[in-house]
Amino acid sequence: MLVKKGIRTMGVNIEKVFGEHVFDDAVMKVRLPKSDFDRVKTLVHEGGEITEDLADVVAQAMKEWALEKGATHFTHVFQPYVISVGAEKHDSFSSIPVDGEIENTFTGKELLMGEPDASSFPSGGLRATCGARGYTAWDITSPVYIKEDTLCIPTAFCSYTGESLDTKTPLLKAMHAVSKQGVRLMRLFGNEETKRIYSYVGPEQEYFLVDKEKYMKRPDLIYSGRTLFGAMPPKGQEMDDQYFGSISPRVKAFMEDLDVKLWKLGITAKTEHCEVAPGQHEIAPIFAISNVALDNNLLVMDLLKKTAREHGMICLLHEKPFDGINGSGKHNNWSLTTDDGINLFKPGKEPENNKLFQLVLACTMAAVDTHAVLLRLAASNTGNDHRLGANEAPPAIISMYLGDQVGDVVDQIIKNGKATSSLSSGEIDFGIKKLPKLEKDPTDRNRTSPFAFTGNRFEFRMVASSNSIGDVNTVLNAMMAEQFEKAVEVLEGAEDFDKAVEEYTAKLMREHSRIIFNGNGYSDEWPIEAEKRGLPNCKSIVDAIPALTSESTIEMYKNCKVLSERELQAREEILFEQYAGVRNIEALTMVDIANKMLIPTAVKYTGKLADTILAVKEAGVEPTVQTELLAEVTDKLNEMKDATKALAEITEKAANAGDVQAVANAYKDDVMAAMAALRKPADELEVIMPKSMWPMPTYGDLLFEL
Ligand code: ADP
Ligand code: MG
Repeated sequence: MLVKKGIRTMGVNIEKVFGEHVFDDAVMKVRLPKSDFDRVKTLVHEGGEITEDLADVVAQAMKEWALEKGATHFTHVFQPYVISVGAEKHDSFSSIPVDGEIENTFTGKELLMGEPDASSFPSGGLRATCGARGYTAWDITSPVYIKEDTLCIPTAFCSYTGESLDTKTPLLKAMHAVSKQGVRLMRLFGNEETKRIYSYVGPEQEYFLVDKEKYMKRPDLIYSGRTLFGAMPPKGQEMDDQYFGSISPRVKAFMEDLDVKLWKLGITAKTEHCEVAPGQHEIAPIFAISNVALDNNLLVMDLLKKTAREHGMICLLHEKPFDGINGSGKHNNWSLTTDDGINLFKPGKEPENNKLFQLVLACTMAAVDTHAVLLRLAASNTGNDHRLGANEAPPAIISMYLGDQVGDVVDQIIKNGKATSSLSSGEIDFGIKKLPKLEKDPTDRNRTSPFAFTGNRFEFRMVASSNSIGDVNTVLNAMMAEQFEKAVEVLEGAEDFDKAVEEYTAKLMREHSRIIFNGNGYSDEWPIEAEKRGLPNCKSIVDAIPALTSESTIEMYKNCKVLSERELQAREEILFEQYAGVRNIEALTMVDIANKMLIPTAVKYTGKLADTILAVKEAGVEPTVQTELLAEVTDKLNEMKDATKALAEITEKAANAGDVQAVANAYKDDVMAAMAALRKPADELEVIMPKSMWPMPTYGDLLFEL
């Protein structure tokens, strides 16, 4: 088990509670007949169809275990595409027969399949509203657990006609594809042991915490998850004193509570620390197989929100809750490892001689370069538009960072066709005898790179904090499956295998060298340089959405049987609609706040000033400052009123701009500009108005008072 011994939180011993609410191997071993347990394990590892008799036995065991633990309901949990929360439809275990006592039932069929009404989820035309049927199917590879008295069964979700409507199904298919092609590659390298390749993910989740009472006074946070108004406080994050700073007692109590809940669900919450921005934090579990990591991350997001509320706080998962303050992301640490323990991204002690690693690296370069926009899209949502490309997160341009050691190996291969040496990592010597000498990592960190090699994995840093990690890992695994297949085709019949590998590796590295960038991704020079290299720079998700139906995407997903063209078209439509929908809520919220809170406040203040001016004049003194202030406030008030009216009109026009893409573009360009035009005078007004009159908690109140 990956859990450290003896870790305690609030008197809770992790060893005792870890996995308490999970129907895991240990529970199954005790509750299932040995032969059935073995059959389940075989299905988990090797796939295949589960028979109804086995499902009945498992369901019976699950029901008994769940009832003993006090559960009353069961639900299939699924994740509709683009909605980053797990959807649930709870059914009670108990049924009351007409003439009898209450009976608790849960059948194999109920375990295997569910039929939630799918008509209210986005389907992008895959399902007419009248044909509402959708099915969920048990994902046997992800553990069943109990949450809030409900037995939760992780599932995949598809339409009546079999098209996937979720983020889980494509991920499972992509994991299967990369495993299949990867094993073929391993065979060529003489490895007969490997049966499958697992893709692992460790997502680092960033989030903000704010006080609940203050939150309740901010309609923008309530409706859109981010502040749509708000002037910068005198102090932001410029002192860099928050990062890894000590955690406040209130937040600490929340984190401890959360840890215990997550441990009980078998989630290895491990790293917690304060992030760069005030009020910002991070939680990272130990990495897990991608589909389990996806399910776990959804649970982490769910529990972050619920637990925060229990502690009188609100957890904001939005990518950019506060303008001018760092936003939140989700670093997707990803690796591919064989079932016999070979991490394909591990360079080993002699990377210059590790031909498999070099080839896999070349494949990764080719994959990232070929599908750069698709990767960027998979990491995006509307909220992430405020983050990508701003001076904090990775830029919107996809590039790879390899670090000194591996970067040098690649340089040698590109120059000479092969590598003959590698830089040693060396030691760090503090020069003080009492301090230990530290062994250096072979790669330094480059915080500005969106896709960074970190020694034995890649860290994809673009991912949106509130997004599911399903899409991203679908792309990552599918693009590798595609490259592995291409490599196998080239190398399969080679007369001199070693030579062929060397040549193919060098060829790929040469063809895709433009994707490597070890410099500062935040610098002004980088976008210019990237353009020279021909690297795409999609400033907004709206520009990246069409990548879903580009030729290269359609071909890749078709070949590895992950998503059909029809499914991709549907997803494209959903994303355009989603973008417009989010911006529409934001615009309407701004109009509402301006009309109901800000304009009336300013009107009241001008009234007060006017009264004061008259009174001061009457007292025989010239009210110079008051008069100036009145003029200034009136100016901003006028500007605000005009901008509010304009925003309402422009939003209405945008909603009717044409097809989904045209509508999304109108929101991105016209509505966003109108929103900025309203925010400007409002924020300026906040700066000059008395704090006691301002109708909403300020940035300072929200960020610094936890
Ligand atoms: P940092 O902030 O230094 O990047 P963290 O410890 O916060 O690192 O998070 C690193 C994440 O990467 C963790 O979730 C960790 O479990 C995960 N990780 C470590 N090794 C691998 C690997 N081989 N494959 C996938 N994820 C990994
Ligand atoms: Mg990290």
